[in-house]
Amino acid sequence: MKLLLENAHIEGIRYFEAYRKNGGYRSVEKALKMTPDEIVEEVKKSGLRGRGGAGFPTGLKWSFLAKPEGVPRHLVCNADESEPGTFKDRYLMEFLPHLLIEGLIVSSFALGSNATYIYIRGEYAWIPDILEQAIQEAKNNGFLGKNILGTGFDLEIYVHRGAGAYICGEETALIESLEGKRGNPRIKPPFPAVQGVWMRPTVVNNVETLATIVPIINMGGEAYGNIGVGKSTGTKLISACGNLNKPGVYEIPFDLSVEDFIYSDEWCGGIPNGKRLKACIPGGSSVPIVPANLLLKTAKGETRYMNYESLSDGGFQTGTMLGSGGFIVLDEDQCVVKHTMTLAHFYMHESCGQCSPCREGTGWMWRILKNIENGKGKMEDIDLLWDVQRRIEGNTICPLGDAAAWPVAAAIRHFRDEFEWHVLNPEEAQQRNYGIAHY
Ligand code: NAD
Ligand code: SF4
Repeated sequence: MKLLLENAHIEGIRYFEAYRKNGGYRSVEKALKMTPDEIVEEVKKSGLRGRGGAGFPTGLKWSFLAKPEGVPRHLVCNADESEPGTFKDRYLMEFLPHLLIEGLIVSSFALGSNATYIYIRGEYAWIPDILEQAIQEAKNNGFLGKNILGTGFDLEIYVHRGAGAYICGEETALIESLEGKRGNPRIKPPFPAVQGVWMRPTVVNNVETLATIVPIINMGGEAYGNIGVGKSTGTKLISACGNLNKPGVYEIPFDLSVEDFIYSDEWCGGIPNGKRLKACIPGGSSVPIVPANLLLKTAKGETRYMNYESLSDGGFQTGTMLGSGGFIVLDEDQCVVKHTMTLAHFYMHESCGQCSPCREGTGWMWRILKNIENGKGKMEDIDLLWDVQRRIEGNTICPLGDAAAWPVAAAIRHFRDEFEWHVLNPEEAQQRNYGIAHY
């Protein structure tokens, strides 16, 4: 069942005419006849969980929005998709921009936002033009601007380009950047729902989350909530990459097994050249890496499914997370130490530097990993690495610290022998030319 990408193959769907002809903007017509509270209620009933990575219930977040008398409220669309391995929002914005605009109109009405912002990552340099064209087309057809469909509701949507900083995807850093300042995360609470852009109540939601409001309103929250498994309702976009025959963006049902997703021809079509699966990071670079045996089955021997609950079964000891859905597959030729080192460099580079454990710890981890990878490490470095990551986790202002620590912890937990091999075989470690994990 496809709820988001159903029409993605239709020629010209990027433009208003084809989008409208294929049922586009029906949810706006329906929602504007409802009250904002009724829309929030539908979203609550749907059980939709935020698709940016945290999986926080969207209806609950919306119901937290403060409504002080006379203070404007804002909706901000987080399109700063920068998590390594994650490119599903890019696909939505590039090929179905009107689906996002439609979701934004309904959500803005529900939340009482008359000025809504799309904050898009700087590297997606060609997409703002696509979004701005869609906004103009919606405006020309009476779905944006003043007095939308004669209901008295006014809405402007502004596209704001980021400058290429991963940290600006963290919602409070994004808000600071939107206000024209350096993108340093704020301490929470207060949450943006109380003090967001210009200290006004603000909801920050991910692109996919906001696009999903369209099918929820069209089919009704309850019907949407009946699709899926447990608290994983609806469908989910997954960006699959790494050692796969058919990498790409897929809309999956939550009852799909991880094994089918990787090996079935309907999905990723298996691993190139018949290589064996070594490990996977199923939810973007910040979630723990899991070895093949714990990816396909839980520690209890049950089938692992592509949903929030199943992937996190076992916690961080034997499980992982669905996260943002950036599904990175590593075959038997990939080096976990090199891979972890690459990620550590990324987090070091992207740390904003506000808190010492993250600023100092990310660089320290990278230097230790570089030594081990290059055959210059000692056995005690592995324990030191473990100690450094443990002191970062939970001791920082924003989740980037945890995101830097978790991949290192999981790599040591599951692949300690590979770290030890590098220490015991320094010359071979220096010479061996591993393949590069493509993410
Ligand atoms: P979080 O759990 O702190 O918050 C989730 C959302 O719920 C936030 O919008 C927050 O404001 C809201 N919230 C939570 N408690 C609240 C309360 N009591 N009152 C009001 N609002 C409340 O997580 P986060 O920091 O937003 O996101 C972390 C996740 O982001 C990670 O799990 C990672 O997977 C993901 N991530 C994604 C990308 C990407 O490119 N998609 C990049 C980096 C990180
Ligand atoms: Fe900045 Fe890192 Fe602290 Fe986040 S955890 S505020 S990125 S220094």
